[in-house]
Amino acid sequence: MQPLDIITRKRDGLSLQQEELDYLVSGYLSGSVPDYQMSAFLMSVFLQGFDRQEMADYTWSLVNSGQRLKWKDLPGPVVDKHSSGGVGDKTSLVVVPLLAAAGLYAPKMSGRGLGFTGGTIDKLESIPGLKTVLSTEQLHAQVSRTGGAIVSQSPELTPADGKIYELRDVTATVDSIPLIAASIMSKKIAGGANHIILDVKTGSGAFMKKKERAVKLAASMVGLGERLECQVKAVVTDMNQPLGHAIGNSLEIQEVLSALRGEGPADLRELALSLTAHLIKDAGKASNYEEAFNYTAKLLDEGWGYEKFREIVEAQNGDFNLLENSEIPAASMQEKIKSSQRGYIVSMDASKLGRASLYLGAGRLYKGDDIDPEVGIEAHRKVGDFVERGDSLLTLYANDRHKLDAGLQEASQAFKVQEEKVSSLPLIYQVVDGESAANIYIEAEQK
Ligand code: URA
Repeated sequence: MQPLDIITRKRDGLSLQQEELDYLVSGYLSGSVPDYQMSAFLMSVFLQGFDRQEMADYTWSLVNSGQRLKWKDLPGPVVDKHSSGGVGDKTSLVVVPLLAAAGLYAPKMSGRGLGFTGGTIDKLESIPGLKTVLSTEQLHAQVSRTGGAIVSQSPELTPADGKIYELRDVTATVDSIPLIAASIMSKKIAGGANHIILDVKTGSGAFMKKKERAVKLAASMVGLGERLECQVKAVVTDMNQPLGHAIGNSLEIQEVLSALRGEGPADLRELALSLTAHLIKDAGKASNYEEAFNYTAKLLDEGWGYEKFREIVEAQNGDFNLLENSEIPAASMQEKIKSSQRGYIVSMDASKLGRASLYLGAGRLYKGDDIDPEVGIEAHRKVGDFVERGDSLLTLYANDRHKLDAGLQEASQAFKVQEEKVSSLPLIYQVVDGESAANIYIEAEQK
């Protein structure tokens, strides 16, 4: 087998076999296939797409490049949740404790912030003492004991995906539905869950700006689940405005505590309950979605999710008492942005607010930058709200005057207000399950 022949076949639009994909992926990981050949292969996939079987085979090649977690000894279903990333998206931190409180097992591997989107691991690390790196044995022991864990992606899982992702990043091949679907699903499959819910975000603050592409990505991943013997469902959700009110690491953790106390923002509550309920139903703990939703709401309102969050944080060495009693916001400077006119909020650009929080220091502008857990933004309004002239729209928290000015400049462009009444934005656009995915998934368009 020669990489050149495989690349040529893909370039010409032919389908590749499992052995050919394994050969390329394992060769790239070991170093026998050089960057330039892998780059040419990735660009061929970007331009030609993958058919369904190829996408599943390529996903297997990524999974087989590393370990696969096994949870057979656990006495209940193992479930997982994934978000394609957004601004103010702290949903996993509400969902995982609720799943564990419902008696499911939820070993959640998460990432750090990427671009202007926040990362669950960065948020969690704002909790004093909390460890996000656990060995496979430690992860297993914690999940058996508490039902949940939220940890960094293990480098032993899908190492080829990590190496290929870095190459895609610098060869203009990130934005390809089959490559994204295989990359995300390989990590989920390697995580060993039986049931997975995917939150595919769309809008200005998401990687998929257009809803149609988000639906196609969702359908591709659901279809992959079917071929890889794992039940996957996807929910396509709005990311034109931030989720909840808080953007920035410790501010978001406080919002998670509020949500788990039943006092959080309505959109965060709704999304967390919905994603949890889908998994509870799919794992067979409820006979239909409504029953699962009501059960999840009860778990949340009776404080079981809050107590589970405490247990998970403490199992990972986090100081929950300090967290509960810390003074928030802790940042030394704060400044408000007020509305310059009276009317209805027509847009509240999530990408601009994500970028503003990055400038404040809540994310990384350069690889390896330290982040400041104390800084961020509180958004006081949502699209569709009515405001008087002079009403507060945002409060920005910072520890550095220059960063605060940069954040203010970016954030002040995020709002548009108009006189005519505006409707609020929907939160959930579409649920994609195995049946609907089969209708959405069109091979020729998987590029
Ligand atoms: N997230 C992933 O894990 N992989 C991609 O390719 C894109 C987003």
